Amino acid sequence: MSAITTLPSFALSRRGLLRVSAAGLTIPAFPRLLSAADTPREPIDIGSVEDGKVAMPAISNVATEPAQTPSEPPLSRDKRVGFAVVGLGRLTLEEIVPAFGESKKAKLVALVSGSAEKMKAVGDAHDIKPEARYTYDQFDRIAANPDVHVVYIVLPNALHHEFTLRAAAAKKHVLCEKPMAVSSLEAHEMVTACATANVKLMIAYRCQYEKANRHLAELAATEKHGPLKLVEAVNAQNQGDPAQWRLKKALAGGGSLPDIGLYCLNTVRALTREEPIEIEARAWSTPNDPRFTEVEEAVTWLMRFPSGVQATCATHYGVHKAQTMIAHTPGASMLLENAFAYRGQRLKISRTENGKDIEETSQIRAMNQFALELDHMADCVLTGRTPRTPGEEGLQDQLLMEAIYRSAAEETSIALPPSDRPDAFRGPQLDANT
Ligand code: NDP
Repeated sequence: MSAITTLPSFALSRRGLLRVSAAGLTIPAFPRLLSAADTPREPIDIGSVEDGKVAMPAISNVATEPAQTPSEPPLSRDKRVGFAVVGLGRLTLEEIVPAFGESKKAKLVALVSGSAEKMKAVGDAHDIKPEARYTYDQFDRIAANPDVHVVYIVLPNALHHEFTLRAAAAKKHVLCEKPMAVSSLEAHEMVTACATANVKLMIAYRCQYEKANRHLAELAATEKHGPLKLVEAVNAQNQGDPAQWRLKKALAGGGSLPDIGLYCLNTVRALTREEPIEIEARAWSTPNDPRFTEVEEAVTWLMRFPSGVQATCATHYGVHKAQTMIAHTPGASMLLENAFAYRGQRLKISRTENGKDIEETSQIRAMNQFALELDHMADCVLTGRTPRTPGEEGLQDQLLMEAIYRSAAEETSIALPPSDRPDAFRGPQLDANT
């Protein structure tokens, strides 16, 4: 009888072997393991290299299983685009810095901050060279840092203009948080400065890179359930401490509209791929609420588009969090839950089939939208393409927000010039596999 058959079933685990050998029994010889050198290698398992990129064929039955778009492999660190992040606040620390870990083409190489303490903590944790840590006063020295290709501005809104102009002067590409600026005049100067310096300017409209929003836009564009007729968009939250910069007009430029209402405006425009030709708005703040002495609490507005699509939008700083968008067509009502949130998007499509009401929830693979955004900017730098959301897209939103405020102040509807083509202010459409 062989030693293996007499041993208990745990004998092949390391602990089992030790216990048995300590009891004086024979340690069995392991069966010879297969070695990589002498096993057969099938082309389907190995793949191939085309244009320097590894391609792996599908392993599912392509006749019956859904097509899988191969995703791009991550670039090695030395080939990645280097980013400097300006401002170590909540968005930077909670979302953007972690997103570099999920990015395939971007790397964090420099920090800009007014806090020596935060800069040390974040810089040490992420191996940022001491000479690549800048105060706001030292920012212009970034021009001499060849590791920095892109400056990502994550400061209070009123500081976006200054740092975009300084980054352009340093010949660095710019990724700028939304809202792009606090006026269309500033936004226009930012576009001009980046064009003159021949650097790219992208506005960080993450929802245009997020997968569920993109899927909904595709359903609208292909008219799968009929043409888009009506859109409802709400982005609201209950704001806290009145001391925060978001409630100071000089730093924020406005209240709920430029901060969170902008998602309704920008995402509805991206969904329709049209520009509004009429806007009617109303604004409101609760009297004597210390949060709303300088900026507005709530704005509701209606937008009419050339195709006849109507959009009703609402933003509020004094109610419980709500972030939904509903696209209505003759054949379906498509509800995107958490449409403007960092995560948790769910697309529910309600329609009637064979006389029965049905509701489908689309299965869309969630991906980190900040990483998608970083990779898009990096890709634009590497390939020379124009970002999907360039400065012109942000400028158009500034002009529309000014129209919304004017309509609310004058209690009238504002007529706007029609655009001559879809996606009038956007760069090329995104590739499906990004
Ligand atoms: P925070 O208030 O959390 O952080 C802002 C940081 O800016 C501060 O911590 C500080 O960093 C720096 N700063 C420099 N000057 C000032 C000043 N005078 N007052 C206050 N802060 C100053 O803001 P957020 O990170 O939430 O927002 C930053 C930008 O990102 C805004 O434009 C906002 O609209 C946008 N945003 C976008 C989101 C998105 O989903 N795309 C979500 C949230 C915000 P330091 O101490 O390092 O100098």
